[in-house]
Amino acid sequence: MTAFEEVNVFFDQAADRLELDDGIREMLRMPWRELQVSVPVRMDNGRIEVFAGYRIQHNGARGPYKGGTRFHPNAGQEEVRALAALMTWKTALVDIPFGGAKGGVACDPRSMSEGELNRMTRRYVTNIEHILGVNRDIPAPDVGTNPQTMAWMMDAYSLIHGYTPGIVTGKPVEFGGSLGREASTGRGAVYVLSEAARDLGIAVEGATAAIHGFGNAGSWTALLLEEMGAKVIAVSDTRGGIFNESGIDAKGAVQHKKETGSVVGLAGTDPVTNEELLELNCDVLIPAAIDGVIDRDNAPRVRTRLVLEVANHGLTPEADQALNDRGIPILPDILVNAGGVVASYFEWTQNLYQHKWEESRVNKELHKIMTRAYRDVREVIDRDGITYREAAFSIGVGRVAHISNLRGFL
Ligand code: NAD
Repeated sequence: MTAFEEVNVFFDQAADRLELDDGIREMLRMPWRELQVSVPVRMDNGRIEVFAGYRIQHNGARGPYKGGTRFHPNAGQEEVRALAALMTWKTALVDIPFGGAKGGVACDPRSMSEGELNRMTRRYVTNIEHILGVNRDIPAPDVGTNPQTMAWMMDAYSLIHGYTPGIVTGKPVEFGGSLGREASTGRGAVYVLSEAARDLGIAVEGATAAIHGFGNAGSWTALLLEEMGAKVIAVSDTRGGIFNESGIDAKGAVQHKKETGSVVGLAGTDPVTNEELLELNCDVLIPAAIDGVIDRDNAPRVRTRLVLEVANHGLTPEADQALNDRGIPILPDILVNAGGVVASYFEWTQNLYQHKWEESRVNKELHKIMTRAYRDVREVIDRDGITYREAAFSIGVGRVAHISNLRGFL
C-alpha cells in the first residue's frame, strides 16, 4: 500500500462509522488540487540539478489550505498526498479554520549547501506561488525545513506580491514568527499525553520514554517531558540512537546535536540502533521522525504501555491493528502533533493583525485547544467504545463532511 492508501484505511473506517454515501466519500478522499513542478537549481559546482516539487491541496472546505513543506528524498506524490489528507482531518479535529495541504521537494537537504537550499526554496515558491495566498494556502515547516526556510519562502513570495508575512508560518520570531511556535508541536504532544495518562492511570512523573527522531518535534517533546519529571531513556536521529536507563539529559542532547549534527556520542550514553530503540521496554514510545517506522514486522516486538504518535503516519495500519489487538493504546498523529498547526494558526492570526502575542498567551490558548480536542476524542471513545485513532478520524471526517454540506457544494 502507498502512504496515501494507508491513511485512507483510517479515513474509510471513519466514513463507514459515519455512514457517508459513496459520492461524499470520494469527494472527501481525493485531493482537490495537485501541483507538481520541476525545480531546477544551479548547484555550487556549476551544474544544474532538477528536483521534483509538489504542493497538494487536499481539502479546503473549512478554510484556507494549511500544511507543511517537507524536504526529503521520499517526498513524492503519494507521501505528500497522505500528509495533506492528514492535515485536513487534523485541522478539523482541533477545530481551527483551515483545510489541509502539504508540500515537498524530493531532495536530500543534508547534502546541500545553504546557498543551494536557498536557491531551491525560492525556485519552488516561484513555481507554486500562484496557488498560495493568505486566504488560499499557507505553507509551514516540516521534516528537512525550518524557520530559515520559511524566511526564504516568505521573501520569495513577497518579492512578487509585496510584504506578506502571513503567507507562511513557522518563521523566525524576529521576522513575523510567533513566540512559542517552535516548541508548539512538542508542547501540544505533552498536553495530550498528560490528559490521556490521567485517563489511563499512567503517571507521567517517573515514566520512561523512548523517542525516535530528535528534530524539532522530537527534541521539544523530550525537553518538555523532562520538565514534567519523565525519564527520557533513549533518543535517535538518522545516524543512530543513544540510551541510558537512568535517563538522558535532553538539554545536553540538544546541545550535542547542535555541535556535532547528531545525538550519537553524547557522554554518559550507550549506542542503540533506531530499530532497537523502537523495541525498548518503556512506558511511552514516541515515533517523532518519519512515516511508517512501526509496521507489521516490528509491531509484535514493541514493548511499551502507550504510543504517542508525534510523527505523521508513524504507524502503518497493520501496526496500528497489531498494537490495538495487544491492548496498547495509541494516541494518534492527527491529535498528538496538532500543536504545530494550532500555533501556526496563532502566527497567521498575529500576522493578519500585525500584532504580537506574549508566549504565555500562545501556550495558554494552545493548552485550551489541545485539551478540548482530547476531551472531544475521549467523549466519543466513552460513547462508542472505539480506539483513540478511530474517534479522532471520526470527528475530523465528520466535521469536514458537515461543513461541505453547509457550504452547499455537495
Ligand atoms: P525535523 O526535520 O526537524 O526532524 C526530523 C528528525 O528525524 C531528525 O532528528 C532526523 O535525524 C530524524 N530522522 C529522519 N529520518 C530518520 C530515520 N529514518 N531514522 C531515524 N531518525 C530519522 O522534522 P520535524 O519537524 O521534527 O518532524 C518530525 C515529525 O513530526 C514528522 O512526521 C512531521 O511531519 C511531524 N510534525 C512536525 C511538526 C512541526 O511543527 N515541526 C508538526 C506536526 C507534525
